[in-house]
Amino acid sequence: MGKGDVLVRLENVVKHFPIKGGVFLRQVDSVKAVNGVSFEIREGETFGLVGESGCGKSTLGNVILGLEKPTSGRIYYDQQDINALRGAKRRSIRHQMQIVFQDPFESLNPRMTVEEIVGEGLRIQGGMSKKEIHTRVIHMLQRVGLNAEHALRYPHEFSGGQRQRIGIARALIVQPRFIVCDEPVSALDVSVQAQIINLLRSLQREFGYTYLFVAHGLNVVRHMSDRVGVMYLGQLVEVADADEIFAYPRHPYTQALISAIPDVGMRGKPFESALSGDVPSPVNLPSGCPFHPRCPYAKDICRMQMPDTHMVGRAQVMCHLYDDESIH
Ligand code: SF4
Repeated sequence: MGKGDVLVRLENVVKHFPIKGGVFLRQVDSVKAVNGVSFEIREGETFGLVGESGCGKSTLGNVILGLEKPTSGRIYYDQQDINALRGAKRRSIRHQMQIVFQDPFESLNPRMTVEEIVGEGLRIQGGMSKKEIHTRVIHMLQRVGLNAEHALRYPHEFSGGQRQRIGIARALIVQPRFIVCDEPVSALDVSVQAQIINLLRSLQREFGYTYLFVAHGLNVVRHMSDRVGVMYLGQLVEVADADEIFAYPRHPYTQALISAIPDVGMRGKPFESALSGDVPSPVNLPSGCPFHPRCPYAKDICRMQMPDTHMVGRAQVMCHLYDDESIH
């Protein structure tokens, strides 16, 4: 497999979380977090996954990594159905897939030293002496912009940006191929965000990593992604190359997200103000197109019928506006 080949493929992935109630704690409803998502991530690329909080993007990341089991659908990694794998093969793939968490303050064990945190994955893998692990940890710390003397310190002694560097070192030390970056900069100061994004990009250039980069705003993924998928209430409403999606946003929700970027859209207006109404509950999804209660272009068919996904130019768009002009 080489750069550009499909590394991760999702086929109609659904993830619903049961809600239980009553005396017998029977399932009374469900949170419909992911509702039939299909896309591919190619080796060596960054796929940006964008949407408001609660749209299902982090759940989708967890499902891809095998941290959550899908309700239905399939996830292929390197052409293998990851939920059908068992034993050593499953463990080997799990090591190839890592995650950088959103909150570096919560994701690092406060009672472990940096060396213990970063070296943990190697200890779990086994087959290395303490000295080898120490050498690898020091090298990795230096590669992410920390230094050897940081190894014996504890997480509380570091700034947010430094903690995220520790989180990145922990993910990368086991030499993964695919990394889910789950909002890795949203808890950081704006001045630090660019440093972490630049670090992730330079590591990708050096080691050829494939990233799924999850963010709630398009501005964060703008300079990071080769392709972008926009999620709304558990569905992928638009997928296109990053250049294409910024130049020609087709879906009304993508247009609203773009309008929120200060130097592109509405000059600093927060993107919520570019959208009318609140995000509907993922327990009671709207009929038809899930975006219809907030969409300025909604028509009768939008309230009754779920739109198909159409190819419009070089974008995949799920919207009735393109029913007549697209190739299915
Ligand atoms: Fe708006 Fe209708 Fe398109 Fe949904 S399908 S985004 S409601 S125009």
